Amino acid sequence: MPAESHAIAMTPQRWANSNRYVRELFTAGEPPAAIGLAQRAADAGLPAIAVPPEVGRLLWIVCRGQYAGRGCRLALELGTLAGYSALWIADGLAPGGRLITLEPNSKHAAFARQVFSESGWTDRIELREKKALDELPRLAAEFGPAFDLFFADAIKTEYPAYFEFARRLLAPNGLFIAHNALGSNTWWIDEPADQAADRDAVDRMNRAVAADPEFDAVLLPIDQGVLIARRRTHSAP
Ligand code: SAH
Ligand code: MG
Repeated sequence: MPAESHAIAMTPQRWANSNRYVRELFTAGEPPAAIGLAQRAADAGLPAIAVPPEVGRLLWIVCRGQYAGRGCRLALELGTLAGYSALWIADGLAPGGRLITLEPNSKHAAFARQVFSESGWTDRIELREKKALDELPRLAAEFGPAFDLFFADAIKTEYPAYFEFARRLLAPNGLFIAHNALGSNTWWIDEPADQAADRDAVDRMNRAVAADPEFDAVLLPIDQGVLIARRRTHSAP
C-alpha cells in the first residue's frame, strides 16, 4: 500500500470490532422494560429478529427530537414482535404522545401486550393486531398526515407500499425510518436482482425515497441498514 494512503482495509473482524465498540459506548439508557427482553422473547419461542440496542437508541433519539425537541406526538410502527423497538420509541414520545404499533401474529401480539402492560406505558402504546396493508388505509382515514414518525419493520416485499403510505401519513418534518434497508439474515443489497423478492423490493423503496423531492434521506449502514428520511416542510425549490 502506498505510504501516502490513508485507506484502512476493512475486514470482517474489524467490522465486528466496530459494532462491539458502538454497542459498548452508545447503548446506555435502555428502557427498563426492554432490559433482558431479547432473552425472554427467545425463551418464549419468538424469532430473534428485533433491532439491536444501538438501533433502538437511534429510534429514541430521533423520536425525542421531533416536535421541536418535545418528542413525537404520534408515532407508528409496522411489526411489533416482542415490543423491543416500540419501547425505545415510546420512551421518546412527547408528554401525552402515542405510539400505534401493528402486529398481526397473535402470539407476538399477546407477548408484546404483556410487556407493554408491565412497562406501565399502556397509555402511550396502542397495539393493533392488524396487518400493515389492511390497517394503513384506516389510519390514513382516521388521522390524515399527523404522524411525526413512521417506523417500518414488517414485510420486506411491502416496503415500497409502506413508503407510499408514509407519504400520506407523515406530518411536515415527519420521519420515515426503515429497518433492513441494506439486508437481513437471508439477503443483502449487493446481491444481483431477480433472486430475492425481499432484496428487490427494499432496493425499489430505497431508490424511491432517494429520488423523492419531498424527502431528505440518508441510509446508515449500522446493523442491517437503517434508512432515515425526513419529509420536507416546504416543497423543494
Ligand atoms: N420491530 C421489532 C421487530 C419486528 S420483526 C423490533 O425491532 O423489536 C417483524 C414483525 O412483523 C414480526 O413480529 C411479524 O409477525 C410482523 N408482521 C408480519 N406480517 C406483518 C404485517 N403484514 N403487518 C405488520 N406486521 C407484520
Ligand atoms: Mg428488522
